Amino acid sequence: MKITNIETFSVSVPLKKPFKTALSTVTNAEAIIVKITAGEYVGYGEAPPTVVITGESLASIDSAIQHVVKPKLVGMDLTEYESVMYTLQKSMIGNTSAKAAVDMAIYDLLAKRSQLPLYQFLGGYRNALETDYTVSVNEPVEMATDAVQYIKDGFSILKVKVGKDTIQNDLSRIKEIRKRVQNDAVIRLDANQGWTAKEAIYAIRKMEDEGLNIELVEQPVHAKDIEGLRKVTDAVYTPIMADESVFSPEDALKVIITRASDLINIKLMKSGGIHQALKINALAESAGMECMVGSMIESRVGITAAAHLAASQRNITRFDFDAPLMLDYDLVNGGVQYTKNMMTFTEDYGLGIHYVEKGGITVGMD
Ligand code: MG
Repeated sequence: MKITNIETFSVSVPLKKPFKTALSTVTNAEAIIVKITAGEYVGYGEAPPTVVITGESLASIDSAIQHVVKPKLVGMDLTEYESVMYTLQKSMIGNTSAKAAVDMAIYDLLAKRSQLPLYQFLGGYRNALETDYTVSVNEPVEMATDAVQYIKDGFSILKVKVGKDTIQNDLSRIKEIRKRVQNDAVIRLDANQGWTAKEAIYAIRKMEDEGLNIELVEQPVHAKDIEGLRKVTDAVYTPIMADESVFSPEDALKVIITRASDLINIKLMKSGGIHQALKINALAESAGMECMVGSMIESRVGITAAAHLAASQRNITRFDFDAPLMLDYDLVNGGVQYTKNMMTFTEDYGLGIHYVEKGGITVGMD
């Protein structure tokens, strides 16, 4: 089953409400959609431009796929997919989102050829996932009002974004949210690198003393500050999760060896796809460290691939897949299905995506 073509096109969908983190404010979900043809099958992938995290733009993703990856992969046989994945990963430094889009389309093809939904092809550990919902960083009262609304909408795990201005403001935000939601929600925090190690230790201990009951704190310090991350992990009882500090299996190994975090957040756009993500999860599992799978602001193409990966593995225990619910409309036919906070898979093979619309025009019917 030889790869015969790799096509790309861009999509853009407005968000219902701007998505605000310590790193950026996003108002539109943009992405490059990838369509790979092999034999009678078509596989889909997606890469959003997340310049502040992976350094990739729409143009760079498209160029990396069309000018670097495509000439190397077209003609390769998917029955030797270890070689295909090695060639993809070694084709260039970085460009992890471009690689992820191609990787997930290849897995889509492999699972279709095996006549299995992708999560079953990869391991099939569970067939439903509960996603959290993100509360963007704003003023405390607005965040608490959003949190209450999300619980009414059926979510029971809230991921609260902090780290944008001062830790005193962050403490006010979390107190206000906890006061309003009471014990109706699990609250996890994501500082997106916004604190120093000292600030993180101070703030998290304060939350512990005040009984704010925080499930975990994601990426308190700068991505490169592994020593700072380790200090925070050592100093507090609340579990600390590495996100931006871990892109590759090598990064994961560094965090595991130094015990710099308690948990790892895997994202396909950081790892360069499912093949590398499985390695990170295997390393973490070997060290007794659970993983979450999360996403960037992505449509249901990328999320479907991430959800299939997350469902397939026992050691992946937390799921952060709310991005498609923030989009004004849905371009994807098929793929993972949402019922409030629960996600389920269809019996369709591969990712189960039938087609992706481009500005009202249907592209890539298969
Ligand atoms: Mg994060």
